[in-house]
Amino acid sequence: MSAEFSFQCTACCSYTKARAGVFSTPHGLVETPRFMPVGTLANVKTVTPAQLKDTGAQMVLCNTYHLHLQPGEAIVAGGGGLHKFMGWKGPILTDSGGFQVFSLSDMRKISEEGVIFRSPHDGQIINLTPEKSIEIQNTLGADVIMAFDECPPYPATRQEVEAATERTYRWLERCMAAHQRSDQALFGIVQGGVHLDLRSDAAVALSQLDLPGYAIGGVSVGEPPELIAKIVESTAPLLPPQKPRYLMGVGTHREMAMAIASGIDLFDCVIPTRWARHGTAMVGGERWNLKNAQFREDFTPLDETCPCYTCQNFTRAYLSHLVRSQEILAYTLLSIHNITELIRFTQKIREAILNDTFATDFAHWLT
Ligand SMILES: [Zn+2]
Repeated sequence: MSAEFSFQCTACCSYTKARAGVFSTPHGLVETPRFMPVGTLANVKTVTPAQLKDTGAQMVLCNTYHLHLQPGEAIVAGGGGLHKFMGWKGPILTDSGGFQVFSLSDMRKISEEGVIFRSPHDGQIINLTPEKSIEIQNTLGADVIMAFDECPPYPATRQEVEAATERTYRWLERCMAAHQRSDQALFGIVQGGVHLDLRSDAAVALSQLDLPGYAIGGVSVGEPPELIAKIVESTAPLLPPQKPRYLMGVGTHREMAMAIASGIDLFDCVIPTRWARHGTAMVGGERWNLKNAQFREDFTPLDETCPCYTCQNFTRAYLSHLVRSQEILAYTLLSIHNITELIRFTQKIREAILNDTFATDFAHWLT
């Protein structure tokens, strides 16, 4: 790991594989386990950086694919790099664009070289390779950048998953060779679909490359939740214990608690902001639709125990009114609460790991 990055494991749970740690980056510390909000287009939708900071957010994720298409990495670099451009002083992680190319683009052609696809913006043909993805991410300037990987769909044949997993490894070697900046940490991604043997082979092979961090990718792509838990349970412990581990695209309470018990440190997911835009609040692991009649005259806060700006200042009745009126403020206030809820959940788990009470305090999330 370059001198600008370190990961210290401060406490380990005696009963599970959970750990509490501190990941140090050039733009600050990330106390793990931790949920990372998603700011796809260099903003967390409807939330200002100041509001975001108040949710307890430490590291934020941005999407390389979206930023390459709009505004383009040259403009982000012209604005002083991602941190300055979007006004977020804390750590940032960019994904590689691989997942979006495979999930969003129609008309794509995959080869050993990379992926050719048509831009949904202007129909332009774009060639994304491991080298190009790293070049874009080097230009954007996030603290953590991700290897360009091939994420197989679910379901897929074992042969297809095996080919994608092996290609992901070859692409990772090309990403490492292309990576230019010592102030950015390149994380590798373990693929392997739902095949535990492919996952463990990939985890062992990647571990030998001594990367500054590791991710488990290609989960939460349509497979049943119990399979996700199994994949994480068998794969995470094979990754180097002294490096941060990131489970990509997962962010429900139960999935995070179970993954933390398997030794995962970082999470990201679009659900807190996406659900907010649908008028849904996340409260104690439940989803509440604020349009429901029961909230119309309910003058209590969303969650009395929540320290967020929304819960400290507004009632369920007011939020229900804003959602029914489709006021933009509804999405801001619900996003603030939902992000706070998920970060607080991971913070509470962190405290429990430090006190070694995780296995008992969170037992109901772990079954
Ligand atoms: Zn709240």
